[in-house]
Amino acid sequence: MTSSSLHGRTALVTGGASGIGRACVAALGAAGAKVHLVDADRDGAAAVAAETGALAHVADLTDPEAIAGLPADVDILVNNAGVQHVAPLHEFPPERFTALQQLMVTAPFLLMRRCLPAMYERGWGRLVHISSVHGLRASPHKAAYVAAKHGLEGLSKVAALEGAPHGVTSNCVDPGYVRTPLVEGQVADQARTRGIAEEQVLDEVFLGRTAVRRLIEPAEVADVVLWLCGERSGHLTGASIPLDGGWSAS
Ligand code: NAD
Repeated sequence: MTSSSLHGRTALVTGGASGIGRACVAALGAAGAKVHLVDADRDGAAAVAAETGALAHVADLTDPEAIAGLPADVDILVNNAGVQHVAPLHEFPPERFTALQQLMVTAPFLLMRRCLPAMYERGWGRLVHISSVHGLRASPHKAAYVAAKHGLEGLSKVAALEGAPHGVTSNCVDPGYVRTPLVEGQVADQARTRGIAEEQVLDEVFLGRTAVRRLIEPAEVADVVLWLCGERSGHLTGASIPLDGGWSAS
């Protein structure tokens, strides 16, 4: 996959202190973009900024006032920050449900609302949303996450239709399980609770529905994001790109 240079472009990446967001910050920066990294984790954000040359902004994206203080004049917006909460629907804590919608649907909406005017003025923009295979498929006990990612998919399609006349594309990237601290922690936890080896948890629990029997690396997700942010992707909009090793094909 080739990508044009992003020299002269400015990007904002949410959740850039860890995992997929961190890989996106590194990839966009290496392609020449000036990158604003937004994260609630002050130390993590500072470390990635020092490593990549990005500008760190510390903000809790569930707080609309914090979003109102972030840069609005960007060419590229990567909505990546997200969290998981696992519980059966009839026991799901309502406040956690609301918090996940706030972080993974309302924050992307507020950021797009903020960043679109400058993109429209320039006649160019790239909105990329890190959704999930759970934006396309459901799993039990993930009510808030599945609802939020499906919501994000809908939001992206509306942005694609409205942005097209202004040279702005909007797409979702939909990974299966990615090798990030979040997933590695879950594998270790499940191995402990089930009393089985981590390899067995990976194979049976995490990769049970996946034809490609390995986790995706964050850099592989960032490669697709980078291509979506380039000059050669202008006709791809309103799409959801499954990086799920065949999960959604089955
Ligand atoms: P991660 O936990 O490694 O990183 C998430 C980052 O978001 C962290 O730096 C965290 O501090 C930040 N964050 C969390 N809540 C925040 C808040 N309220 N305000 C600001 N920042 C906040 O996670 P990851 O695995 O890299 O996931 C990134 C995105 O990719 C998420 O949207 C996730 O749903 C999605 N995704 C992950 C996987 C996976 O297997 N890891 C699979 C599919 C989709």
